[in-house]
Amino acid sequence: MHIVIIGNGIAGITAARHIRKLSDHRITVISGETDHFFSRTALMYIYMGHMRFEDTKPYEDWFWEKNRIELVNGWVVKVDTKTKKLHFDDNREITYDKLLIASGSKSNKFNWPGQDLDGVQGLYSFQDLEAMEHYSEGLKRAVIVGGGLIGIEMAEMFHTRHIPVTFLVRESSFWNVVLPPEESQMVTRHILEHGIDLRLDTELKEIWGDKAGRRAKMVVTNKSEKINCGFVGLTAGVSPNIDFLHFGEIELGKGVLVNEFLETNIPDVYAAGDCVQLRNPKPGRRPTEAVWYVGRMMGETVAYNICGEKVAYDPGIWFNSAKFFDIEYQVYGDIKPELPENQSTLYWEHPGGRMSVRINWDKSSGAVVGFNLMGVRYRQEVCEKWIRQDVHIEEVLQNLGLANFDPEFYKEYEQEVVALYNQQTGKSLALRQRRGLTNVLKFLKAAIPS
Ligand SMILES: Cc1cc2nc3c(=O)[nH]c(=O)nc-3n(C[C@H](O)[C@H](O)[C@H](O)COP(=O)(O)OP(=O)(O)OC[C@H]3O[C@@H](n4cnc5c(N)ncnc54)[C@H](O)[C@@H]3O)c2cc1C
Repeated sequence: MHIVIIGNGIAGITAARHIRKLSDHRITVISGETDHFFSRTALMYIYMGHMRFEDTKPYEDWFWEKNRIELVNGWVVKVDTKTKKLHFDDNREITYDKLLIASGSKSNKFNWPGQDLDGVQGLYSFQDLEAMEHYSEGLKRAVIVGGGLIGIEMAEMFHTRHIPVTFLVRESSFWNVVLPPEESQMVTRHILEHGIDLRLDTELKEIWGDKAGRRAKMVVTNKSEKINCGFVGLTAGVSPNIDFLHFGEIELGKGVLVNEFLETNIPDVYAAGDCVQLRNPKPGRRPTEAVWYVGRMMGETVAYNICGEKVAYDPGIWFNSAKFFDIEYQVYGDIKPELPENQSTLYWEHPGGRMSVRINWDKSSGAVVGFNLMGVRYRQEVCEKWIRQDVHIEEVLQNLGLANFDPEFYKEYEQEVVALYNQQTGKSLALRQRRGLTNVLKFLKAAIPS
């Protein structure tokens, strides 16, 4: 059987590795971007000089041949599901017995006038990084449009090269569509502290070109502000990269529509990763989740299904992590920007304004539902166990040290978090557990007292 995978990102490659473990089928992985799988999340570190492209490849180049995974460099422009044939932009063709679509995302563009000028782009692919490198030469100012995770990465990238940045953010505070107000304000302050010209409540109206009408020269905002610049970063989100599937038989929504087995409406055609839209996402989860570990989990699940063992995709408890300049961010579970009526929250912030811990719980049962951490690292396995097992907030607080994942020489703040809870509730809880791997391992093995 010949299994063909479109996309050599985390979803496609995880699937290929697991199919190889499970079977002896012929596997071909196609990508028009790079010959080999690399870590997309590390693109910024190449620009900032912390890593070379070579360092972002999780597997040595010999790995593919040794594991009999054939790599094909090229762009698929059409999928013919009747003849089971893929057509490339250079007229090559490949036939498949089973097909996995793992084609990732593309940067959003919203038909802004001037969006196709030179020096206007998103940051998604390796080619985007190369273009960004090219346009950085002699650049006097970059304008970044869209205050999400990629926007702030782009701001940091230019900042490390001392290129002034104007950052246009539609919201009234950075990423407040995801972060609760206190955390959003912390990041907003932090961006300003780095000398970024952050303009909140501001949207891009149009981009003007130079005299030749080729390269971006100026941005005009919805407030009629004019900003001279030689580069415009479009970072207003991403969406499934499925244009090449239009006019085919595969049913599409915003992404490739799949059931819990990651099967499309067409037999022998599957999809995984950023390009997917789940028909029935689990409660609390979205139909499309463009994050790395979702691609990894879907890649593994789909491998089993392709090899004939039915396994439903179970994303577990939501988590995400990112970095806002120097502040690391982690979220586990259900943390909404606005506190739902049925939840209570405990929010502790360090007086320095760069660290915080938020824990949310269900008002009626007391069960913890989520953790939001800025500048402090908590262990995923520990937080996940508490959330999965509906552990009471007071039990969690007394054992909070178990979650702490900061290096040993970092200060621990769990005592202060518990003290804040006591102050707000009139209770007198004491911290029973401090940071330490032995305690954590014991905890992870043990049953939670009810
Ligand atoms: C700058 C940046 C930073 C990020 N940081 C984080 C982070 O910190 N944490 C996190 O969880 N997530 C992060 N993400 C998101 C994460 O990288 C993605 O969720 C993940 O890479 C998606 O994996 P995928 O395998 O679904 O698709 P992709 O990695 O996009 O791989 C798809 C591949 O398919 C190829 N392809 C697409 N269409 C075709 C075609 N028609 N023919 C041939 N080849 C095709 C593409 O070129 C691409 O190589 C970041 C993304 C970016 C861009």
